[in-house]
Amino acid sequence: MPAGSERHPDKDVNAALEAMSEAGWRIERARSRSAHAWGKAFCPYSEQRAHLDCAVSVSGTPRSGGNEARRLQGRIRRCQRIGEGP
Ligand SMILES: [Zn+2]
Repeated sequence: MPAGSERHPDKDVNAALEAMSEAGWRIERARSRSAHAWGKAFCPYSEQRAHLDCAVSVSGTPRSGGNEARRLQGRIRRCQRIGEGP
């Protein structure tokens, strides 16, 4: 993880966040400590219109860490497909 960011309490989600970070995603920790949203992830092309939907919020208390991790990894793949064109 980039310096200064905190680790997610769930190891599966944390691994997915690391994969996102390696793919160039920017992980923003939520400012408020209100439990639900842990933070938000933005893809490297977040200024581009086609990538507006890439941004994904990360739950701090996912019911299933494995499912949350798969959801995040799905976003990485979806983003990579956008680059391949129609
Ligand atoms: Zn994207």
